[in-house]
Amino acid sequence: MTVLDLGVPAVPGAAATTTDTSGRPADARLVDSWGRVATDLRVSLTDRCNLRCTYCMPAEGLEWMPSEQALTDDEVVRLVRIAVERLGVAEIRFTGGEPLLRKGLEDIVAATAVLAPRPEMSVTTNALGLTRRAAGLAAAGLDRVNVSLDTLRRDRFTEITRRDRLDDVLAGLRAAREHGLDPIKVNTVLMPGLNDDEAPDLLAWALDEGYELRIIEQMPLDAGHSWQRDRMITAEQVLASLRTRFTLTDDPAERGGAPAERFLVDGWTAPDGSPAKVGVIASVTRPFCGTCDRTRLTADGQVRTCLFSQTENDLRSFLRGGGTDDEIADAWRVAMWGKKAGHGIDDPGFLQPDRPMSAIGG
Ligand code: SF4
Repeated sequence: MTVLDLGVPAVPGAAATTTDTSGRPADARLVDSWGRVATDLRVSLTDRCNLRCTYCMPAEGLEWMPSEQALTDDEVVRLVRIAVERLGVAEIRFTGGEPLLRKGLEDIVAATAVLAPRPEMSVTTNALGLTRRAAGLAAAGLDRVNVSLDTLRRDRFTEITRRDRLDDVLAGLRAAREHGLDPIKVNTVLMPGLNDDEAPDLLAWALDEGYELRIIEQMPLDAGHSWQRDRMITAEQVLASLRTRFTLTDDPAERGGAPAERFLVDGWTAPDGSPAKVGVIASVTRPFCGTCDRTRLTADGQVRTCLFSQTENDLRSFLRGGGTDDEIADAWRVAMWGKKAGHGIDDPGFLQPDRPMSAIGG
């Protein structure tokens, strides 16, 4: 596939009358040179986590970011405000590490909820502590949650996460449902010989509970750089496994920039009465970069144009150096204009980024 085959339209409505030195059209939004527009901001609030998933980090954890390098709550809120008010961002996903480890999460959510136009807000979490925080997050204005869960078996959970906390995760999910943080999406990574036989069970459980299951192909973003393509469970394998127990049909709904390829599960209904769905996020074997609408902010104030970026653009020095909102917005626009066509995992020279997934966020 050559870059040009991405089939992305020219920037809709962008008045390409004046351009800056990089050829970027005079467009207030986060456009890139392939015609994509980023409207979905992923904000990593910490690189720390209270689990030690084997496919993510070593048992001893990682060298955590020094607190003085991390953005303060006010700095996070300022960047989110600039993104919403000046850059056309309409969706905010708070991630980590584990975002519930951020004490000020409720305040950050509340400050985001009063922005105009109000962005849709979600959190990607391992759900530990959600029993205590769900009510406060819902009251602060959070719309919904994505919960990471790879197995329903206690022994396997403990083996994968190196923590015996399955019951707490399940309780956290129920608390999210009780407080209306839905639709609740459950993100699962399957690993050969560990939990790759559990896809049908996980789907049956999710359908019963009213959660939407999404199975994610493991990506080369682990701290140990031990990812091997031939050890990854592919979308094809996932669908074949699910079809041993369920009848799946393509979801007719428009996919847009959504990472998940969704399928209707015949004979099942979601809590809102719509057809129940299951998703597969196949970044490696069925890349969706051509319609990517994501921009990312790290916990230390760097813009990442892509999960797999080899470079980052620093906004923290603007924040702490007296930069104006205009200057920050412009720096963000210039950063996104340089976004690459795709992740390049299939390119011979592909290099895994230095920053691990735990410091980028889902
Ligand atoms: S790999 Fe990068 S470009 Fe592709 S969909 Fe993910 S964030 Fe977007």
